[in-house]
Amino acid sequence: MATVTENQHAALLARHRAVLPDWLATYYAKPIELTHGAGRHVWDAEGNRYLDFFGGILTTMTAHALPEVTAAITEQAGKILHSSTLYLSRQAVELAERIARLSGIPDARVFFTTSGTEANDTALLLATSYRRSNQVLALRNSYHGRSFSAIGITGNASWSPTSLSPLQTLYVHGGVRTRGPYAHLSDAEFIAACVADLEDVLGQAGGQVAALIAEPVQGVGGFTSGPDGLLAAFKEVLDRHGILWITDEVQAGWGRTGDHFWGWQAHGQAGPPDILTFAKGIGNGMSMGGVVARAEVMNCLTANSISTFGGSPITTAAALANLGHLLDHDLQGNARRVGGLLRSRLESLAASLSIVREVRGRGLMLGVELVEPGTDIPSATAAGLVLEAAREHGLLIGKGGRAGNALRIAPPLSLTVAEAEEGATALGAALKEAQAALE
Ligand code: PLP
Repeated sequence: MATVTENQHAALLARHRAVLPDWLATYYAKPIELTHGAGRHVWDAEGNRYLDFFGGILTTMTAHALPEVTAAITEQAGKILHSSTLYLSRQAVELAERIARLSGIPDARVFFTTSGTEANDTALLLATSYRRSNQVLALRNSYHGRSFSAIGITGNASWSPTSLSPLQTLYVHGGVRTRGPYAHLSDAEFIAACVADLEDVLGQAGGQVAALIAEPVQGVGGFTSGPDGLLAAFKEVLDRHGILWITDEVQAGWGRTGDHFWGWQAHGQAGPPDILTFAKGIGNGMSMGGVVARAEVMNCLTANSISTFGGSPITTAAALANLGHLLDHDLQGNARRVGGLLRSRLESLAASLSIVREVRGRGLMLGVELVEPGTDIPSATAAGLVLEAAREHGLLIGKGGRAGNALRIAPPLSLTVAEAEEGATALGAALKEAQAALE
């Protein structure tokens, strides 16, 4: 494949900066232009090869350029690209049947969208319509998308455009416990403190609350989560008030956490949620999201509420092939096995590094929290340095976290043991270089 020169790259970047918003292409001093991928690797326009430890942005669920997905898209593109939800679609029915079964939600109905934001927006529309209330609960440090309503449930001001949300949102504890008054608590004490906080917030709410929306593992929040069972404890309180539980599985779903197919299952005693939202990985890069809810909740919308592109033949064809591959090859099991090895490797690296405060997560959803060397002070600078250094070592990773100081590791779920080793070696070198630069 022909490669571009430094000058050609600079010219493209200048054109980008002149016409696209300043808040795009913010990773790396010299943003990367990816041109193609295969398996767990991607290549940029200058011919550099990288191991993709960010899986697109958790969008490449199985593998880059997975032949089955490419074939499904190509075949469908040759037939019809779009046929709207006004008509029947065989692929949409088949995909909905599979997802409804996998969701664990009884009498489930599936509504397809084009993104995670639209899925969460729809979940809010359902919950607020069903409960006739615009009061919702969200977790602190949450991220659920960037529509007018989704930004109203984003528990970190730096991730949401300034705007007046149409929702009345009440935030509760439940995602983060790395620092502050919750840090020293045992799991049981932490759960009790969060439940007390929830009860307190509900006591203040005055009026009906429609739903609690929660990411089982906070994604943009830096791959943090409350202890297993937290949401089960929340559910008991929610049930007493008739409040719906929405689980946002946009990042944690599809077996990524290894131990569970859905993130909410780490809170298994809670039973299935009332509403489940998904997106990112299901289309392996195609714009696909969706909402699953009991028929009673889904069908509370009576108007002609369609999404023009939601569940289009081309995205559902891709998603069916992708999901089929994931299940047939037990990529959840692979995430558990290879993710476990990778986590052990990262933990042993971290033991000798003073910029790493914590390695966390499960399966192939691992977070590394960075601090100023030898301190407990979160360091976004360290995260930036590690990203740049990792790039030099041929590794792409994500960042996030409340203070922008967490590394996010979420490769395609087909990662091999050898690739986990390749990535750990590159990351180890990048961490050492970043630490040296900060000392
Ligand atoms: N929910 C979660 C947990 C997310 O991480 C994101 C995006 O990062 C979204 C929703 C929004 O998804 P999208 O960007 O597809 O609209």
